[in-house]
Amino acid sequence: MKKIVIVGAVAGGATVASQIRYYDKEAKIVMYEQDETMSYGACGMPYFIGGEITDESSLIAATPEKFKKEKNIDVRLKHRVISINRNQKTVEVLNLETQQTFEESYDVLILSPGGKPIIPKTPGLDSTTMFTLRNFSDMKKINHYIKTEQPKSCVIVGAGFIGLEMAENLANLGIKVSIVEKSPQVMNIMDPDSSALVEKELLEHGVKLFKGNFITKADGQNLDLDLGEKLQADFILMSVGVSPSTELAEKAQLTIGETRGIVTNLYLQTNDPSIYAIGDAAENIDFITGDAKRVPLAWPAHRQAYIVARHITGDNIPFKGLLGTSICKVFTQSVAITGLNEATLIERHMKYESVVQTAHSNAGYYPDHAKIFMKIHYDSPTRKVLGAQVVGGKGVDKRIDVLATAIYAGLTMDDLQALELAYAPPYSSPKDPVNMAGYRAK
Ligand SMILES: Cc1cc2nc3c(=O)[nH]c(=O)nc-3n(C[C@H](O)[C@H](O)[C@H](O)COP(=O)(O)OP(=O)(O)OC[C@H]3O[C@@H](n4cnc5c(N)ncnc54)[C@H](O)[C@@H]3O)c2cc1C
Repeated sequence: MKKIVIVGAVAGGATVASQIRYYDKEAKIVMYEQDETMSYGACGMPYFIGGEITDESSLIAATPEKFKKEKNIDVRLKHRVISINRNQKTVEVLNLETQQTFEESYDVLILSPGGKPIIPKTPGLDSTTMFTLRNFSDMKKINHYIKTEQPKSCVIVGAGFIGLEMAENLANLGIKVSIVEKSPQVMNIMDPDSSALVEKELLEHGVKLFKGNFITKADGQNLDLDLGEKLQADFILMSVGVSPSTELAEKAQLTIGETRGIVTNLYLQTNDPSIYAIGDAAENIDFITGDAKRVPLAWPAHRQAYIVARHITGDNIPFKGLLGTSICKVFTQSVAITGLNEATLIERHMKYESVVQTAHSNAGYYPDHAKIFMKIHYDSPTRKVLGAQVVGGKGVDKRIDVLATAIYAGLTMDDLQALELAYAPPYSSPKDPVNMAGYRAK
């Protein structure tokens, strides 16, 4: 009987535990989580704060009691794994309630420790009311603060996924939102023309944008920006990114890669074959280029969990790499990306062409239709799709998923013309925008 120890009990950890149990009814599975909540939908947290989701417990998918009863998996909350002894195959665990430590042996160790919010070093930040939104207790703190203090204004630092989702949710609560973003555009993984549409949407909803800017000094509610502006905010939400939690791995001399994640092979094994790493902390490869890549999103954590479970239980299914397919709602717009963006194509000196297609989501005569902006990059020699970005009011999710599937399958722009996609007036047009982009390619 194998003994499997898992570090982290949220997206990757809880999923890999369940998957292993599905394939192996005998294994002993023990999972350690330093926080007080396991297996919750982190992605739903902005919507709980914004009031879209009203029951916080609906975000929690499982409890230790449920895992024990239904899956015979031991989950120990408020326990932090503090070191790994690779020679003895043990981990040292700190019980955060009693402050006592103990050792736990393993045959297989799976690391799914996620990441930590990055907090820029800014003079005076301690004097402000500042939050990050990484885990369930962060969510509860922000929610409690909003309910009790009724703040009127917020500065969000960082215009990535979490910053933008929070901008919408805070604005919906009547809070005046300003965003300070260091790069010259919001959502800097997108091409500038796609990102400009997101900025337009933010401005139309009263969000103030300070791009190419950062806070140089904070003093209570007063914030000085690099380009001279002075802002006032009741509170700050710091959402400038997440650094992978690699302390345990580093101490155990597991290899850390160029993305600062734990380097893994096709089966998510680290340089120690008994230790796997998945989720936000793991470094993988780009599906198209094979370059080192880390995508701190839920899909990779879940897919990797499945591959690890199969590998441990005797099936070798290689992880094929990451496209970084992602989507985000910003007020009335959906914003989605998959594959390579223009900056990466240029940086890698790849030969590419691009097609920009603006179209309606569905029949223009049907009352409920919206504009869609679609940009597709393709390889000039082979015409294979390399990357896509879609922004619009409706139907963005299905287009990005078709395009992600096209990249996965190695389809060309000519294949996009030929795809027989579903049509009726509420959903599309006889030539879907994806087909149209295919026809438009040179
Ligand atoms: C606000 C928010 C919104 C998001 N929205 C989306 C979305 O819409 N779509 C999407 O794809 N992704 C989204 N994500 C990202 C997604 O939630 C993460 O990619 C995913 O949770 C990563 O899974 P993980 O297992 O690697 O890490 P996590 O789910 O973060 O779990 C890691 C756990 O390990 C614990 N841990 C760390 N070190 C130790 C230790 N030494 N001992 C014990 N426990 C430890 C941590 O406390 C943590 O609970 C969102 C994230 C946030 C915060």
